[in-house]
Order: sequence, then structure tokens, then C-alpha cells
Amino acid sequence: MKTIAAISTAPAVGGIGVIRISGEQAIEIAQSVFRPLSTKKSLSEMKGYTAAFGYVHTPDNRKLDECVALVFRAPHSYTGENVVELSCHGGLFLLKKVLEAVYAAGAVPAEAGEFTKRAFLNKKIDLTEAEAVASIIAAHSDASAAAAVSAKDGVLFQKIQKIASDLVLLSAHLAAWTDYPDDDIDALDFGQLEKTLSTAKKECEALLSTFDAAQIVSVGVDTAIIGRTNVGKSSLMNLICGEEKSIVTDIAGTTRDVVETSVRMGNAVLKLSDTAGLRESEDKVEQIGIELSRKKALSASFILAVFDVSKPLEDEDFALLETIKNKRAILVLNKTDLSAVWQPEILEKYAKKTVFLSAKEGNGYQNLVDAVEDALGTKDFNPYAPMLATERQKVCLLNASGCIEEALDAIHMGLTLDAVNVSIDSAINAFLELTGERATERITEEIFKNFCVGK
Ligand code: GDP
Repeated sequence: MKTIAAISTAPAVGGIGVIRISGEQAIEIAQSVFRPLSTKKSLSEMKGYTAAFGYVHTPDNRKLDECVALVFRAPHSYTGENVVELSCHGGLFLLKKVLEAVYAAGAVPAEAGEFTKRAFLNKKIDLTEAEAVASIIAAHSDASAAAAVSAKDGVLFQKIQKIASDLVLLSAHLAAWTDYPDDDIDALDFGQLEKTLSTAKKECEALLSTFDAAQIVSVGVDTAIIGRTNVGKSSLMNLICGEEKSIVTDIAGTTRDVVETSVRMGNAVLKLSDTAGLRESEDKVEQIGIELSRKKALSASFILAVFDVSKPLEDEDFALLETIKNKRAILVLNKTDLSAVWQPEILEKYAKKTVFLSAKEGNGYQNLVDAVEDALGTKDFNPYAPMLATERQKVCLLNASGCIEEALDAIHMGLTLDAVNVSIDSAINAFLELTGERATERITEEIFKNFCVGK
């Protein structure tokens, strides 16, 4: 395998910029561009986990920059190969020059995610841990960072291995028993067989149930704030965004367009859409905004529907309630600092959680956060528990669970043990695909191509 190199720090100006070189020739290549200040030891004489200060030079021996070279020796490195990290000053021009010198000395450009891919291929990490590296980089809250670090530590991998190893034992026993009927192999206890499969199925279901909350904590849930004009949607949006450090990302639109902002409420991340209101309008531009809002409301997975308690409810309010009848939604009864002219019981038949709020004064905000966390199931989110973090992992686990179900059905229908074992083997394959122990090249390529170059 060729020795690869890339700038591993962000492609922007910073205090320090790191060039990572990985592969069999990493140390020799680094040595040909790096001159240590102390002449006592060259890079190739240095032990792993040691550093040297010196200068990087061009191939024609011009001094480029000061540099600290950090040496890792295989297999004790991120990739499992020899690795040298050159920490230079973080100016992009000079970093590119250093990288050119490294290429001239024999390294080739690393592809997106290639360092992590090599770590996977060298069995330093499994696929769930590799995916966790991307989650660590994307993390934007204590909960999502803790969950990603714990996935990187292998909590999901260990859990999957545990479920799969029970099935591997079962499959081996079944195969021995059916293939060598004359040998003295313990008779299979059908009760035990069924129990092992049912337990594995339950564990799959428990893991599958973690997916939604984990996604809401890490990626967020599409949320629409909807309501008639003037009920206080923008005020609510401002209140949520104004909460300290709640904004995760901001996507600005035009004033009448939908504006998207990701905010945190407790553990949950809401990808919020401010809307131009659901009012029918004569105004052409506003109509576009209204149509966008309506579409957004219909396509959003979670809705905060705002009502003004100080004004009589109108047909539009009820039409809105109809629109969101089958949606996960919270009814926000706003302007509670003013006298209410209708009773909240009117909304009872819509069977949605209601929260009283004054968006203007902020009263009731914590109740809203609690209601949001209850509705989204993120209140008791435990970042240290094994959980599914990606759609790919979910699909593999759904496959595995489906195959275990088939095996159970085969038992109940009185099919042969051979037939039962075919389904168990398929379940084991699905688990191995999840951890990457038996993933195809196409799957691994798909995962790593979404990484940045240098990771
Ligand atoms: P939108 O059209 O639904 O986005 O409503 P806005 O957020 O623009 O609010 C309309 C008006 O209601 C503004 O004058 C706000 O200051 C006012 N408003 C919003 N929330 C409250 C509230 O909780 N109490 C009071 N008294 N006024 C509010």
C-alpha cells in the first residue's frame, strides 16, 4: 500500500497546521524533508511516540518552515501504519508547500477518509467506531459529543458482538447436530433455542428504539413553528434562539422566506423553520412564503403550533389543527401575560400536549423545553449506552432482526433445523456487515467517501 499524506487540520488559517503521513515509507519520506535542530538523532532512529523540533525543506534544500515532527511506529498509530505528523505554522500557503515537498519525496495524496479507512482495514477500529469518528467531528453538544466518543470506544461494537456471538454458538451447535447425527452431540433443547433467538430479537429491538432519540440529539429533527399571523411565532423563534448557546447552525433566508436555524432545547436539536404564517394572502410575495410554510408544516417531523390566548380563535386556527392532526406536535398557548379570552379545554379533543407561554416575557419556557424533550424522547438520553448512530447501522440491524424473526417462524412452523440455521446465518452476516467484519468494499467506500481529506 502506498504511503499517503494530507493536511489534517482544517483548510483555513490557524495557529498550527498538521500534515499527516501514513504508510510503510512514512518515516523515510518525512526524514527527507525534515532536518532536526539537534543532530543527535534522525527521524528514522527515533522511537514511536517521540517528537523532534527542526525545519522542513524543499527538495532543492530551501528552508520552508519550523516544524515539530511526531513519530508513531506501526502498529501503534491511528492507522496502524508508520505515521509522522508534521506540525507547522498554520498558514495555508506554506502548508501546501510542505505537502508538495512530502509528495516530491514519495508520498501520494490521501483520499477522503483514507487514514480512518486504513485504521479500519488494519483492524484498529470497526466500522461503527469509524463512523463515530465522523460523529465526533460533527458533535455540537455535550450529549452528542459524549455519545460519539463512547461509540468510538466501541460500546455499540461490543454490544453487537455479544448478540452475534450467542447466535454463532447456536449456529455451530445446530450445524454439528444436523451434519453429524451419529456423533454424540447434546440434543438440542428447543426451549433454549427459542429463548436465545427471542433474547437476541429483543436486544435488536431495544437497540433499534435508540435510533430516533440519537438522531434528534446528534443531527436534529425537522421542526416547523406554525400559526396565524401575529400569534407570536417569530417571538417564540427569537426566544428559543436567544437562549444562551442554543444556536447550533444558522441558515438565513429572505425575510418572507423560511429561515432555518438549528437550536438545542435540552438534549434535543430542533432544525427550526420560522414561517410566514398560514394566513391566506393577496400579496404575491407573501403567498410564496405562505405556501412554503404550509409545505414545511406538512413535511416537518415535529411541530410547534402557536395560538394567541388573548384573541378569539379563528377558523384558520382550527384549519391548522386539522393540518397537524396526525403529527407529532405541541400546542403553544402564547401571550399568557395578557388576559385569556378562551379556555384551553377547547383544544382538548386534539389530544396534543399544550404549554402556556409568554414569548414576550419568557414565562413558561422551561415547561416548553420539558414538553419538547418528552415528545421527542430525549429527556433520559444516556450518551454512554450502546446506540445506533447511522441509517446504515439501522438497516443492518433491521435485517438481522428480520432474519431472527424468520428463524423463530421456522421453528414455530416445524421446519427442519437446517432451514432454521439458514436464517440464523443470515442474521450473523447482517451483524458482521454492521461492524464491518464482513462488509463489502462498496459499503466501506460509501462510508469513507463522506469523510474529509486528512481524516
Ligand atoms: P408572528 O406573526 O406569529 O411571527 O408574530 P410575532 O412574533 O411577530 O408577534 C406579533 C406581535 O405579538 C408582536 O407585536 C409581538 O411583540 C407580540 N407578542 C408576541 N408574543 C407575545 C407575548 O407573549 N405577549 C404579548 N403581550 N405580546 C406578544
